[in-house]
Amino acid sequence: MSTIAFLGLGHMGGPMAANLVKAGHTVRGFDPAPATQEAATAAGVTVAAAAADAVAGADTVITMLPNGALVLELYADILPSASPGTLFVDSSTVDVADARAAHEMATAAGHAMVDAPVSGGVVGAEAGTLAFMVGGDEETFRRAEPLLQDMGRKIVHCGDPGNGQAAKLCNNMILAISMDAVSEAFVLGEALGLSNQALFDVASNASGQCWALTTNCPVPGPVPTSPANRGYEAGFAVGLMAKDLGLAANALREHGVAGELGLRMAERYAEMRDAGRAANDFSDIINDIRDKSGK
Ligand code: NAD
Repeated sequence: MSTIAFLGLGHMGGPMAANLVKAGHTVRGFDPAPATQEAATAAGVTVAAAAADAVAGADTVITMLPNGALVLELYADILPSASPGTLFVDSSTVDVADARAAHEMATAAGHAMVDAPVSGGVVGAEAGTLAFMVGGDEETFRRAEPLLQDMGRKIVHCGDPGNGQAAKLCNNMILAISMDAVSEAFVLGEALGLSNQALFDVASNASGQCWALTTNCPVPGPVPTSPANRGYEAGFAVGLMAKDLGLAANALREHGVAGELGLRMAERYAEMRDAGRAANDFSDIINDIRDKSGK
Protein backbone atom coordinates (compact mmCIF):
# COMPACT_ATOMS: atom_id res chain seq x y z
CA MET A 1 0.00 0.00 0.00
CA SER A 2 1.17 3.53 -0.78
CA THR A 3 1.33 6.80 1.10
CA ILE A 4 -0.29 9.27 -1.29
CA ALA A 5 -0.43 13.06 -1.23
CA PHE A 6 -3.63 14.11 -3.04
CA LEU A 7 -3.69 17.80 -3.97
CA GLY A 8 -6.97 19.27 -5.21
CA LEU A 9 -9.95 17.68 -3.45
CA GLY A 10 -12.76 19.21 -5.54
CA HIS A 11 -15.60 17.59 -7.49
CA MET A 12 -13.25 15.03 -9.04
CA GLY A 13 -10.31 14.87 -6.64
CA GLY A 14 -12.50 14.41 -3.53
CA PRO A 15 -14.11 11.15 -4.64
CA MET A 16 -10.89 9.91 -6.28
CA ALA A 17 -9.02 10.38 -2.99
CA ALA A 18 -11.89 8.64 -1.15
CA ASN A 19 -11.51 5.61 -3.45
CA LEU A 20 -7.80 5.43 -2.68
CA VAL A 21 -8.64 5.38 1.05
CA LYS A 22 -11.17 2.58 0.39
CA ALA A 23 -8.46 0.62 -1.45
CA GLY A 24 -6.32 0.72 1.72
CA HIS A 25 -3.82 3.49 0.93
CA THR A 26 -2.78 6.18 3.39
CA VAL A 27 -3.99 9.41 1.82
CA ARG A 28 -2.94 12.89 2.93
CA GLY A 29 -4.74 15.66 1.13
CA PHE A 30 -4.56 19.38 0.62
CA ASP A 31 -7.03 21.85 -0.86
CA PRO A 32 -7.42 25.50 0.18
CA ALA A 33 -11.25 25.31 0.00
CA PRO A 34 -12.65 24.56 3.50
CA ALA A 35 -15.70 22.61 2.21
CA THR A 36 -13.46 20.15 0.36
CA GLN A 37 -11.36 19.66 3.50
CA GLU A 38 -14.42 18.69 5.53
CA ALA A 39 -15.63 16.19 2.93
CA ALA A 40 -12.16 14.68 2.53
CA THR A 41 -11.73 14.29 6.28
CA ALA A 42 -15.09 12.50 6.46
CA ALA A 43 -13.86 10.15 3.72
CA GLY A 44 -10.74 9.19 5.71
CA VAL A 45 -8.20 11.57 4.12
CA THR A 46 -5.78 13.26 6.53
CA VAL A 47 -5.93 16.91 5.52
CA ALA A 48 -2.62 18.79 5.80
CA ALA A 49 -2.17 22.50 6.54
CA ALA A 50 -0.14 23.01 3.34
CA ALA A 51 0.57 21.10 0.14
CA ALA A 52 4.25 20.68 1.02
CA ASP A 53 3.29 19.05 4.35
CA ALA A 54 1.14 16.47 2.55
CA VAL A 55 3.97 15.72 0.11
CA ALA A 56 6.80 15.24 2.64
CA GLY A 57 7.36 11.48 3.04
CA ALA A 58 4.70 10.43 0.50
CA ASP A 59 5.72 7.94 -2.22
CA THR A 60 3.13 9.27 -4.70
CA VAL A 61 1.72 12.76 -5.36
CA ILE A 62 -1.52 13.09 -7.32
CA THR A 63 -2.81 16.48 -8.50
CA MET A 64 -6.37 17.23 -9.66
CA LEU A 65 -6.42 21.00 -10.24
CA PRO A 66 -8.41 23.43 -12.41
CA ASN A 67 -5.64 24.23 -14.93
CA GLY A 68 -2.02 23.83 -16.02
CA ALA A 69 -0.75 27.14 -14.64
CA LEU A 70 -1.79 26.03 -11.14
CA VAL A 71 -0.14 22.62 -11.63
CA LEU A 72 3.18 24.23 -12.61
CA GLU A 73 2.95 26.74 -9.75
CA LEU A 74 2.22 23.96 -7.26
CA TYR A 75 5.04 21.75 -8.61
CA ALA A 76 7.51 24.62 -8.09
CA ASP A 77 6.31 24.79 -4.47
CA ILE A 78 6.25 21.06 -3.62
CA LEU A 79 9.04 19.39 -5.63
CA PRO A 80 11.73 20.33 -3.09
CA SER A 81 9.66 18.71 -0.28
CA ALA A 82 9.26 15.34 -2.05
CA SER A 83 11.47 12.32 -1.25
CA PRO A 84 13.84 11.39 -4.12
CA GLY A 85 12.16 9.20 -6.75
CA THR A 86 8.58 10.14 -5.80
CA LEU A 87 5.91 9.25 -8.39
CA PHE A 88 3.97 12.31 -9.61
CA VAL A 89 0.62 11.81 -11.33
CA ASP A 90 -1.22 14.82 -12.76
CA SER A 91 -4.84 13.98 -13.57
CA SER A 92 -5.95 17.57 -14.22
CA THR A 93 -6.90 18.47 -17.81
CA VAL A 94 -4.18 20.85 -19.00
CA ASP A 95 -2.37 22.02 -22.14
CA VAL A 96 -0.07 19.39 -23.66
CA ALA A 97 2.77 21.95 -23.41
CA ASP A 98 2.07 22.45 -19.68
CA ALA A 99 2.01 18.67 -19.16
CA ARG A 100 5.41 18.36 -20.84
CA ALA A 101 6.79 21.27 -18.77
CA ALA A 102 5.54 19.53 -15.59
CA HIS A 103 7.33 16.31 -16.67
CA GLU A 104 10.56 18.25 -17.18
CA MET A 105 10.28 19.91 -13.76
CA ALA A 106 9.56 16.62 -11.97
CA THR A 107 12.29 14.60 -13.69
CA ALA A 108 14.87 17.40 -13.32
CA ALA A 109 14.15 17.26 -9.56
CA GLY A 110 14.84 13.50 -9.53
CA HIS A 111 11.26 12.24 -9.60
CA ALA A 112 9.10 10.22 -12.03
CA MET A 113 5.91 11.54 -13.61
CA VAL A 114 2.92 10.61 -15.74
CA ASP A 115 0.16 12.86 -17.05
CA ALA A 116 -3.06 10.92 -16.51
CA PRO A 117 -6.17 12.96 -17.40
CA VAL A 118 -9.52 11.28 -17.03
CA SER A 119 -12.90 10.94 -18.63
CA GLY A 120 -16.03 9.74 -16.88
CA GLY A 121 -16.94 12.86 -14.88
CA VAL A 122 -17.98 13.09 -11.24
CA VAL A 123 -20.13 9.95 -11.57
CA GLY A 124 -17.09 7.97 -12.75
CA ALA A 125 -14.90 9.50 -10.04
CA GLU A 126 -17.38 8.45 -7.35
CA ALA A 127 -17.91 4.96 -8.76
CA GLY A 128 -14.19 4.37 -9.40
CA THR A 129 -14.88 3.78 -13.10
CA LEU A 130 -12.83 6.61 -14.65
CA ALA A 131 -10.90 6.12 -17.89
CA PHE A 132 -7.27 7.26 -17.57
CA MET A 133 -5.21 8.36 -20.59
CA VAL A 134 -1.58 8.16 -19.56
CA GLY A 135 1.57 9.82 -20.94
CA GLY A 136 5.03 8.88 -19.69
CA ASP A 137 7.72 6.23 -20.03
CA GLU A 138 6.81 2.55 -19.76
CA GLU A 139 8.43 2.03 -16.36
CA THR A 140 6.61 4.97 -14.77
CA PHE A 141 3.34 3.90 -16.40
CA ARG A 142 3.72 0.40 -14.84
CA ARG A 143 4.37 2.02 -11.47
CA ALA A 144 1.28 4.25 -11.69
CA GLU A 145 -1.09 1.66 -13.20
CA PRO A 146 -2.14 -0.16 -9.97
CA LEU A 147 -3.04 3.14 -8.28
CA LEU A 148 -5.02 4.30 -11.30
CA GLN A 149 -6.89 0.99 -11.24
CA ASP A 150 -8.04 1.85 -7.70
CA MET A 151 -9.79 4.93 -9.16
CA GLY A 152 -10.72 3.76 -12.64
CA ARG A 153 -11.66 0.95 -14.95
CA LYS A 154 -9.87 1.61 -18.23
CA ILE A 155 -6.21 2.64 -18.16
CA VAL A 156 -4.56 3.35 -21.55
CA HIS A 157 -0.86 4.08 -22.00
CA CYS A 158 -0.83 6.68 -24.80
CA GLY A 159 2.95 7.02 -25.11
CA ASP A 160 5.43 9.73 -24.21
CA PRO A 161 4.99 12.58 -21.70
CA GLY A 162 2.01 14.79 -22.63
CA ASN A 163 0.36 12.13 -24.77
CA GLY A 164 -2.33 11.45 -22.17
CA GLN A 165 -3.42 15.09 -22.47
CA ALA A 166 -3.12 14.87 -26.27
CA ALA A 167 -5.52 11.90 -26.31
CA LYS A 168 -7.97 13.68 -24.00
CA LEU A 169 -8.07 16.86 -26.13
CA CYS A 170 -8.40 14.96 -29.41
CA ASN A 171 -11.21 12.77 -28.05
CA ASN A 172 -13.17 15.73 -26.70
CA MET A 173 -12.76 17.60 -29.98
CA ILE A 174 -14.34 14.61 -31.77
CA LEU A 175 -17.11 14.60 -29.17
CA ALA A 176 -17.95 18.30 -29.60
CA ILE A 177 -17.93 18.14 -33.39
CA SER A 178 -20.08 15.00 -33.43
CA MET A 179 -22.56 16.48 -30.93
CA ASP A 180 -22.89 19.59 -33.10
CA ALA A 181 -23.38 17.45 -36.22
CA VAL A 182 -26.07 15.34 -34.54
CA SER A 183 -27.81 18.45 -33.17
CA GLU A 184 -27.79 20.27 -36.52
CA ALA A 185 -29.25 17.13 -38.14
CA PHE A 186 -32.12 16.92 -35.63
CA VAL A 187 -33.00 20.61 -36.08
CA LEU A 188 -32.83 20.25 -39.87
CA GLY A 189 -34.90 17.04 -39.69
CA GLU A 190 -37.56 18.85 -37.64
CA ALA A 191 -37.62 21.70 -40.21
CA LEU A 192 -38.08 19.10 -42.96
CA GLY A 193 -40.99 17.46 -41.12
CA LEU A 194 -39.05 14.38 -39.96
CA SER A 195 -39.76 13.05 -36.46
CA ASN A 196 -36.85 12.84 -34.03
CA GLN A 197 -37.57 9.16 -33.45
CA ALA A 198 -37.50 8.38 -37.18
CA LEU A 199 -34.17 10.16 -37.64
CA PHE A 200 -32.80 8.37 -34.58
CA ASP A 201 -33.96 4.96 -35.84
CA VAL A 202 -32.26 5.55 -39.19
CA ALA A 203 -29.04 7.26 -38.09
CA SER A 204 -28.38 4.97 -35.11
CA ASN A 205 -28.44 2.00 -37.50
CA ALA A 206 -26.60 3.76 -40.32
CA SER A 207 -23.40 5.68 -40.92
CA GLY A 208 -24.48 8.59 -38.68
CA GLN A 209 -24.11 6.35 -35.62
CA CYS A 210 -21.96 7.84 -32.83
CA TRP A 211 -21.88 8.23 -29.01
CA ALA A 212 -23.40 11.74 -29.22
CA LEU A 213 -26.43 10.18 -30.91
CA THR A 214 -26.86 6.81 -29.22
CA THR A 215 -25.80 7.59 -25.63
CA ASN A 216 -26.08 11.37 -25.14
CA CYS A 217 -28.89 11.98 -27.66
CA PRO A 218 -29.63 15.77 -27.69
CA VAL A 219 -33.41 15.37 -28.11
CA PRO A 220 -35.67 13.86 -25.44
CA GLY A 221 -37.25 10.48 -26.17
CA PRO A 222 -35.05 8.12 -28.17
CA VAL A 223 -32.47 7.54 -25.37
CA PRO A 224 -34.34 7.90 -22.04
CA THR A 225 -31.10 8.25 -19.97
CA SER A 226 -29.68 11.17 -22.00
CA PRO A 227 -29.53 14.64 -20.34
CA ALA A 228 -32.11 16.00 -22.84
CA ASN A 229 -34.73 14.05 -20.84
CA ARG A 230 -33.95 15.97 -17.64
CA GLY A 231 -33.79 19.56 -18.87
CA TYR A 232 -30.18 19.28 -20.13
CA GLU A 233 -28.85 18.88 -16.59
CA ALA A 234 -25.14 17.91 -16.94
CA GLY A 235 -23.71 15.30 -17.61
CA PHE A 236 -20.70 16.86 -19.12
CA ALA A 237 -21.15 20.59 -18.69
CA VAL A 238 -20.79 23.25 -21.42
CA GLY A 239 -18.20 25.05 -19.24
CA LEU A 240 -15.93 22.00 -19.07
CA MET A 241 -16.32 21.34 -22.80
CA ALA A 242 -15.41 24.99 -23.49
CA LYS A 243 -12.28 24.57 -21.38
CA ASP A 244 -11.19 21.37 -23.17
CA LEU A 245 -11.91 22.86 -26.61
CA GLY A 246 -9.87 25.95 -25.70
CA LEU A 247 -6.92 23.63 -25.03
CA ALA A 248 -7.57 21.74 -28.29
CA ALA A 249 -7.74 25.06 -30.21
CA ASN A 250 -4.38 26.12 -28.69
CA ALA A 251 -2.87 22.83 -29.84
CA LEU A 252 -4.37 23.15 -33.35
CA ARG A 253 -2.88 26.63 -33.73
CA GLU A 254 0.46 25.76 -32.17
CA HIS A 255 0.95 22.78 -34.48
CA GLY A 256 -0.45 24.42 -37.63
CA VAL A 257 -3.31 21.91 -38.03
CA ALA A 258 -6.15 23.22 -40.22
CA GLY A 259 -8.83 22.00 -37.79
CA GLU A 260 -11.64 24.29 -38.94
CA LEU A 261 -14.40 22.49 -37.06
CA GLY A 262 -12.36 22.13 -33.87
CA LEU A 263 -11.56 25.86 -33.86
CA ARG A 264 -15.20 26.74 -34.57
CA MET A 265 -16.42 24.44 -31.78
CA ALA A 266 -14.06 26.17 -29.34
CA GLU A 267 -15.71 29.50 -30.27
CA ARG A 268 -19.24 28.07 -30.10
CA TYR A 269 -18.83 26.50 -26.67
CA ALA A 270 -17.08 29.62 -25.29
CA GLU A 271 -20.04 31.70 -26.52
CA MET A 272 -22.53 29.29 -24.93
CA ARG A 273 -20.59 29.32 -21.64
CA ASP A 274 -20.58 33.13 -21.59
CA ALA A 275 -24.28 33.32 -22.51
CA GLY A 276 -25.40 31.56 -19.32
CA ARG A 277 -25.37 27.93 -20.46
CA ALA A 278 -22.13 26.97 -18.63
CA ALA A 279 -23.74 24.51 -16.21
CA ASN A 280 -25.96 22.80 -18.79
CA ASP A 281 -25.05 19.54 -20.47
CA PHE A 282 -23.00 20.06 -23.65
CA SER A 283 -25.87 18.56 -25.70
CA ASP A 284 -27.66 21.86 -24.98
CA ILE A 285 -25.94 23.06 -28.17
CA ILE A 286 -29.11 21.85 -29.92
CA ASN A 287 -31.08 24.63 -28.18
CA ASP A 288 -28.43 27.17 -29.15
CA ILE A 289 -28.90 26.05 -32.77
CA ARG A 290 -32.69 26.33 -32.38
CA ASP A 291 -32.35 29.84 -30.90
CA LYS A 292 -30.05 30.96 -33.71
CA SER A 293 -32.47 29.44 -36.27
CA GLY A 294 -35.50 31.11 -34.70
CA LYS A 295 -37.04 27.63 -34.15
P1 NAD B 1 -12.94 21.63 -8.98
O1 NAD B 1 -12.84 23.10 -9.20
O2 NAD B 1 -14.16 21.07 -8.34
O3 NAD B 1 -11.67 21.13 -8.11
C1 NAD B 1 -10.38 21.67 -8.21
C2 NAD B 1 -9.88 21.89 -6.79
O4 NAD B 1 -8.52 22.30 -6.81
C3 NAD B 1 -10.64 22.98 -6.03
O5 NAD B 1 -11.27 22.41 -4.88
C4 NAD B 1 -9.58 24.00 -5.65
O6 NAD B 1 -9.78 24.58 -4.38
C5 NAD B 1 -8.34 23.12 -5.67
N1 NAD B 1 -7.09 23.85 -5.77
C6 NAD B 1 -6.83 25.00 -6.45
N2 NAD B 1 -5.54 25.35 -6.24
C7 NAD B 1 -4.98 24.41 -5.44
C8 NAD B 1 -3.69 24.22 -4.89
N3 NAD B 1 -2.68 25.06 -5.14
N4 NAD B 1 -3.46 23.13 -4.11
C9 NAD B 1 -4.45 22.25 -3.87
N5 NAD B 1 -5.72 22.38 -4.36
C10 NAD B 1 -5.96 23.44 -5.14
O7 NAD B 1 -12.68 20.97 -10.41
P2 NAD B 1 -13.00 19.45 -10.86
O8 NAD B 1 -14.33 19.39 -11.52
O9 NAD B 1 -12.68 18.55 -9.70
O10 NAD B 1 -11.92 19.28 -12.03
C11 NAD B 1 -10.55 19.06 -11.73
C12 NAD B 1 -9.83 18.77 -13.04
O11 NAD B 1 -10.40 17.62 -13.65
C13 NAD B 1 -9.93 19.90 -14.07
O12 NAD B 1 -8.69 20.03 -14.72
C14 NAD B 1 -11.03 19.43 -15.01
O13 NAD B 1 -10.89 19.96 -16.32
C15 NAD B 1 -10.80 17.93 -14.97
N6 NAD B 1 -12.00 17.12 -15.31
C16 NAD B 1 -13.19 17.41 -14.71
C17 NAD B 1 -14.30 16.63 -15.01
C18 NAD B 1 -15.64 16.91 -14.37
O14 NAD B 1 -16.64 16.33 -14.82
N7 NAD B 1 -15.71 17.74 -13.32
C19 NAD B 1 -14.19 15.56 -15.91
C20 NAD B 1 -12.94 15.27 -16.48
C21 NAD B 1 -11.85 16.07 -16.16
